[in-house]
Amino acid sequence: MTNEELRESLLMAPKNGYARIAPEQRAEMERYCADYMAFMDACKTEREATAWTSAKAEELGFKPMVPGMAANPGDKIYLNNRGKSIMLAVVGKKPLNEGANICAAHVDSPRMDLKPNPLYEDSEIAYFKTHYYGGIKKYQWVTVPLAIHGVVYRKDGSVVTITIGEDDADPILVISDLLVHLSADQMQKPLAKGIEGEQLNVILGTEPLEGEGSDMVKLNIMRLLNEKYGLIESDFLSAELTVVPAGRSREVGLDRSLIGAYGHDDRVCAYAELDAIFNIGTPDKTAVCILADKEEIGSVGISGMKSQAFEYFMDILCRAQGVNLYECFANSFCLSADVTNAYDPNFAETCDRRNNALLNYGVAICKYTGSRGKSGASDASAEAMGHVRTTLENAGVIWQTATLGKVDQGGGGTVAAYMADRNIVTVDAGVPVLCMHAPLELVSKLDCYETMLACKAIYLA
Ligand code: MN
Ligand code: MN
Repeated sequence: MTNEELRESLLMAPKNGYARIAPEQRAEMERYCADYMAFMDACKTEREATAWTSAKAEELGFKPMVPGMAANPGDKIYLNNRGKSIMLAVVGKKPLNEGANICAAHVDSPRMDLKPNPLYEDSEIAYFKTHYYGGIKKYQWVTVPLAIHGVVYRKDGSVVTITIGEDDADPILVISDLLVHLSADQMQKPLAKGIEGEQLNVILGTEPLEGEGSDMVKLNIMRLLNEKYGLIESDFLSAELTVVPAGRSREVGLDRSLIGAYGHDDRVCAYAELDAIFNIGTPDKTAVCILADKEEIGSVGISGMKSQAFEYFMDILCRAQGVNLYECFANSFCLSADVTNAYDPNFAETCDRRNNALLNYGVAICKYTGSRGKSGASDASAEAMGHVRTTLENAGVIWQTATLGKVDQGGGGTVAAYMADRNIVTVDAGVPVLCMHAPLELVSKLDCYETMLACKAIYLA
């Protein structure tokens, strides 16, 4: 053998996905990404993603789960978990004691939630006080257009849905930053201290109500909220109102190869799972799609991936077939579909170039996440990685390997560990993202599309 032949047969030679994707797939990729962008414009919170998915599932013949219901091959079933997370299943030809093929993503994203008592006036400016949710670099969230999304449970028990800042006719909201002229002290601070949590106060208005009295700007804002939504101040206590970046997703780059949007993490994988499960027919094994909440704060709470809501869902499916839930879990596989970092040459020193995901190299498979000595990672076995590798290869999916940055540079987690805790073989995989957790995140169209194909391949495995 020549050295060239040896090289070809023995060494890896990663290629940009554009050199590998079939020409006829290009149009399909563009169509998929246009649909994904529409989904992103409709869904900026876990509630909106759950509502969107419920409606779409109903349209496609999925039936709401009812305890005691049948689960026969081809049946399509979903469970809306209190409006905050959602699980869907397409029952397979094989019984559930042979296991399910699960894809698990999350639909919550970093943001700023209103505090329970948010409305105040200072120096004749009205504000909402917020408490940030998930990991954010606080300095990125000032002087950018913001919108409010959420629901309020009013005194009379009725629930009102609020969205302000997305319609072109709506006003937007903003958090101010200090003018550079007076920033001598601020500019000396580390980035983590430049803007502090208690400075994330959203400007609501400046016009006082006519007449005498204190806090007339605040009173005017409350009057406006009362006129439009019937709110009184105490209603904020029973509300979930969140402040997110305003505006629509956009194509990015002169070649339009990237998508810029708020909350790709992790709605980009959530949408990949959804599009896949909606288009698989009747699989061999039961396919399960999870869109979880609360991943950004540790997968806690009733709608997070640690919640028994997942057992409840799977147990109803298993009982319908007279199958033991633990036996089903023991034979199941889970793709923990979550984003990873894309290599950024602007910050090359933070990554191991040989082990980091690259834009346009396809869905990124991640053996372990975590931080320091793999702390908090699920750390998939050789066999589990082998299963994914073979499945994706056989399906012609463009994939790459990933690690989240250099050793000891930081790290992160996903829902993988909580799925593995359930005795389910689990591997992390997802879309590489630039500027993850920023108000505007970037992903490549090709990676989005290949991640959908990966979910499909897992469902059909
Ligand atoms: Mn994530
Ligand atoms: Mn995240």
